[in-house]
Amino acid sequence: MNHPNYPAILEEIHRDIAPWRTAGRVADYIPELARVPAERFGMAIVTLDGSVYSVGDAYERFSIQSISKLFACTLAFQLLGDALWERVGREPSGTAFNSLVQLETERGKPRNPFINAGALVVTDVLCRRFVGAETALVQFVRRLTGAADLDYDLRVAQSELAHAERNRAMAHFIASFGNLEMPADAVIDAYCRQCAIEMNCVELATAALFLANGGVAPVSGERVLDASSAKRLSALMLTCGTYDAAGDFVYRVGLPAKSGVGGGIVAVLPGEMAVCVWSPGLDANGNSLAGVKSLEWLTTRTGQSIF
Ligand code: GLN
Repeated sequence: MNHPNYPAILEEIHRDIAPWRTAGRVADYIPELARVPAERFGMAIVTLDGSVYSVGDAYERFSIQSISKLFACTLAFQLLGDALWERVGREPSGTAFNSLVQLETERGKPRNPFINAGALVVTDVLCRRFVGAETALVQFVRRLTGAADLDYDLRVAQSELAHAERNRAMAHFIASFGNLEMPADAVIDAYCRQCAIEMNCVELATAALFLANGGVAPVSGERVLDASSAKRLSALMLTCGTYDAAGDFVYRVGLPAKSGVGGGIVAVLPGEMAVCVWSPGLDANGNSLAGVKSLEWLTTRTGQSIF
């Protein structure tokens, strides 16, 4: 395969991003996340032919937070197929990732699986099927990456659990419409644990590679999804993966992506590579400020995007 000069472009981005690294705000509504130094920055590209290119803190693990929604949704989609969409929609929300407003008029059916409300329903599907939904997810990302020591950070999970009033309200509200099958508190518990999974940029890019590879994970050879389902999940990332900023993100970056309030963003270029960037300072929508900018520079400087 003929790749762009990824090492040189990553080095350039690493250099140019320096002033932006402290421009965002580290998430502090989960107290444990506020302890992460704002100036951290890492970026990694993993290509389908197995090359790994990285700069900065690409091997330092961080809290994947909402990026876990991508892996959880993949498992739920594996289990239920299109029946999943009877319980969660496929439209961008245009509201914040933790918003409750649409749930009342839309009778407890969240807009999409990548906002908190939708992820709670997805986690409910996993709780119904697995004794420990978070364990199933941890095992899944271990298989996708080959990193047997991946796990969630109990302190981060407990820190979120102790401050989860909004997500609790959401889960109980969804339950009131009959769209949770398991007890709301059990779903919240599993949700906070899965959000607390820690991975680094190289691991996250590797884990997302199945989406760039027609649904087959290159590390394990596992067929995660059929090619059509992998296409559909990538389409959902494009329209919903960065919350209410999805339109602006696609305009600037042009790749399907999923972000998290830990400051990570993972994106895929089908047929070529997956990329992950980490910078904990967030913009007003809860996406990594330097992360979005770096990905914008990557697709502009390589000339590569899905468009
Ligand atoms: N655990 C976080 C929450 O529920 C995840 C949010 C995010 O990363 N956007 O608030």
